[in-house]
Order: sequence, then C-alpha cells, then structure tokens
Amino acid sequence: MEVLYNSTRSKKNPVKASEAILKGLSEDGGLFVPDRIPALDKTLEELSEMTYGQVAYEVMKLYLTDFTEEELKECIAKAYDEKFDTEEIAPMVEAEGAYYLELFHGATIAFKDMALSILPHLLTTSAKKNHVSNEIVILTATSGDTGKAALAGFADVKGTRIIVFYPKNGVSKIQEKQMVTQKGKNTYVVGIHGNFDDAQTGVKQIFGDKELAAYMDEKGFQFSSANSINIGRLVPQIVYYVYSYVKLLKEERILSGEKINVVVPTGNFGNILAAFYAKQMGLPIHRLICASNENKVLFDFFQSGTYNRNREFVLTSSPSMDILISSNLERLIYRISGNDSEKNGELMAALSNGGAYTITDEMKNQLVDFYGNYADEQETAKTIHDLYERTGYVIDTHTAVASCVYGKYKEETKDTKTTVIASTASPYKFTRSVINAINCQYDAMEDFELVDELSRLSGVEVPKAIEEIRKAPVLHDHICDKTQMKQMVMEFLGI
Ligand SMILES: *Cc1c(COP(=O)(O)O)cnc(C)c1O
Repeated sequence: MEVLYNSTRSKKNPVKASEAILKGLSEDGGLFVPDRIPALDKTLEELSEMTYGQVAYEVMKLYLTDFTEEELKECIAKAYDEKFDTEEIAPMVEAEGAYYLELFHGATIAFKDMALSILPHLLTTSAKKNHVSNEIVILTATSGDTGKAALAGFADVKGTRIIVFYPKNGVSKIQEKQMVTQKGKNTYVVGIHGNFDDAQTGVKQIFGDKELAAYMDEKGFQFSSANSINIGRLVPQIVYYVYSYVKLLKEERILSGEKINVVVPTGNFGNILAAFYAKQMGLPIHRLICASNENKVLFDFFQSGTYNRNREFVLTSSPSMDILISSNLERLIYRISGNDSEKNGELMAALSNGGAYTITDEMKNQLVDFYGNYADEQETAKTIHDLYERTGYVIDTHTAVASCVYGKYKEETKDTKTTVIASTASPYKFTRSVINAINCQYDAMEDFELVDELSRLSGVEVPKAIEEIRKAPVLHDHICDKTQMKQMVMEFLGI
C-alpha cells in the first residue's frame, strides 16, 4: 500500500516519497511525515538471516513506495559498499552488559554517514522519477561534521554538485583538514569570515532567493538541501535499529519478541525518532532513552512538558549535540497531537516567537515510551575513563553521554532488559577529549600525535578516514566574506 507524505503544518495535498525527498521541507515550513507508519512485513526470524543491505531494502521499501525494487536496491548497493570499513556496516560490541551499536564505520567515521551515503542516490533517483533534468546543487552550512559527511556522500555522484560553507575560524583543525582535502570534481568548500550562524543565514538567504532560483532553472540547476529533516535521511536510520535487533536474535542473545531498550545520544532528534519509528513498525522496543549533554532542553521537556530554548547555549565536548532547537522533534509533536497540523503549527509558532511551548497533558501521556536524562562534562569524561579502565573499550564523547545516561536509567528503574546504545562517532573523531578523559597528560601533544597515542591505548587501528587526511593535499582554498556567498555559488556554477 502506498505511503504518502503530509506536512506537519497544513493539510495540503500529500506528496509521494520521491517528491518529499526532492523538496526536503514543505513549502509551509513543515516537515514531511508518512501518513501511516508501515508494519514490518517480514518476520524477525526472516530478517535475522539477512545482510545489512537486505534489511535496508525490507525497511525502506515500506516507506519509499514509489521507488521500484530495482531503483531502491541500486541506491542501497551504491551506498553501503567499500566506503564502510566493515562488511557488517553497523557492527555491535558488547561492554559491561550493554551492546554498543557502532554507527561510525563509514567515510567520515560518524553516524551521519549512515544516511548521507544513501541520500545522494535517493535524491538523483527522485529527480529522475519526477522528470527533473536540472543538475541538483546541494548547499550546506556546517559547523564541522555534517559538511564533511555530505561532501563524502555527494562526491562524484552524477547529476549533483555540492557546495559547503564553514566558519573559517569556527571548526577544529582536523575537521577543516577533512573538508579542504575532499576529492571529487563536483565538490566546493568555502571558509567564510563569520561564525556558523552567519554561514547558516547566508545559505538560507540563497535558498529563499526566488530570482536566483529562476535564473538557475534557466541555466539547468536547482538547489536542494541535505539537512537532517529530509525524510531521505530519516528512513535509512530506521534500518540499523531493525538490524541490531535481529542480530541479537540471531546470536541468541535475546528471544524472539523479547523487548530491548535503545539509548540514543541526541541533538536534532533525528536518530532517536528513527528508533521510535522502528518501534511503531513492530520492532520489540521497550524504552527509548534520550540522552542529552548540558544543553538539556529535551530532558527538561520530557520532565515538564515544556520545551524552552531560552537558556544559555553551552559549548561541550560533544559538539554535535550542542543544539537548542531539535528540529525533528516536530514530527513527534505532530504525532502526539493526533496528527493535528493546526495544533502543531500553533506550538511551532510559539517556539519561533517566544522560544517555548507547552504540550497538553493528553499529549504528554503519549510520551511514556521515552525516558530523558543528561550527562554533564565531568560525568561524560568519567564514563569514558571508567569504561576504558574496566574493559579496554574506548568510546567517543557523544556515545559516553549515552552510556552515562543509561547508567542513570538503570539505577533509577532497576530495568535489566537487554540494551542497545547507539555509538555515533569513532573516538578518533574526538581524539583530544577522549584521550584527556582517559589520562590528562596529553595536553601538549599535536592532534596527529594524539591519534597514534590513542591507537596504542585502545589497540584499535587508526581509521582510514584519519590516515588519509594526514598527508592529503589541500584541494580547496576559497575564503570569502559572509556577504559574498551568493557570488561564490554563481561563480562555481559558471552562471
Ligand atoms: C549528529 C550527531 C548526533 C545527534 O544526532 P541527532 O539525530 O541530531 O539527534 C550525535 N552524535 C554524533 C556524533 C552526531 O554527529
């Protein structure tokens, strides 16, 4: 049965999956949501015999119902290949009774690769299906991680170009090196004089420039976005929750139908929303444990029913979770309002006007599946330290937030169910914070020296992604003022 996509903010005509992927965001500013959550149509036993790619097909076909079998299988095959350093794609490691689902074996060693390696193919297939002959131009503003993952995903994908703007003095040395060494004839990287917000604002202005859009169309180009509200990023993230469950089943660590908990280090609420969708599809999940760092807007929300972004923004050692507006939460709000686009629209307007909203008791009662908590900086470091001391297993700062919150959950609830912790980045991505948590003697070392030291400590080989950028030549050296971003784009496109 066909799944169509509605906006969370109005009852306009629903669109097909491929149209929702192409548009990214609905014109009314809402997010696209499936008009129903499909149920898994294979048994858990059947799924347990499948490879990652096969499970991906069984999950994604239920959402992307206007893709043919051939189209979807081709997208999957192009995404989950040698770009990942293990055939398993998302392997699991047991430590102290919890299962760490390692989502960082892709090109940029963080979990964004899970979706950004397939999005370019979903997007170009969607363009073809909708008779779009323009070249797709992806514009992204990045504070570090997403930009590199998007570059890696789109590099040399036919029919696309990707332009990434980053704050010249606002990303780490390793992050900058990762971006400016990016290969691919269709990739463009620009450092701007300004901060991340300037980059973001500049990109939004270019997206909203109707005159430019018309001119681009004349020249055979159109913009699209790769950001995390695209359903083409959400759907591929459901896959690894199903995969991890059936793998536990296959290895006889759980019985069929036995419920597990899932812990997710959360920022924009995309990853944990995918776990929620997996549960709605029939995957036996008990609690969805939402872990925040000191930017604990979500913890407060689950406690009180009030979402309030009016607070100090804290820079932490888990920067990918330093977020005060979790965009994907809107999809959950819409759902617990009974798919009421008017009610959801009111709450989102309150958020954008006054920075806060409060849900009704009736809505709050539907959040029983969720548990929220947070870890401060000291607890996060201690979690990395203690896990390493006791087991030798090294986790990154984001995963450590999740691990710490899981400890709090267990203590509070005495729940001993089997638990999967989403491990969202390789410790090599945040080497300095990780190694300082293990032992504080390393402050004077260079970044790449630390990498070698971490390898010695953990016994884990330095990932290819890090090894490559050590010696890679700089291929992008564009720098511009924040007022020149549009000119840069036009220059790159030769228009
Ligand atoms: C993006 C990211 C997160 C947060 O994921 P959301 O889907 O935004 O909640 C957590 N950890 C890492 C390493 C990330 O890159």
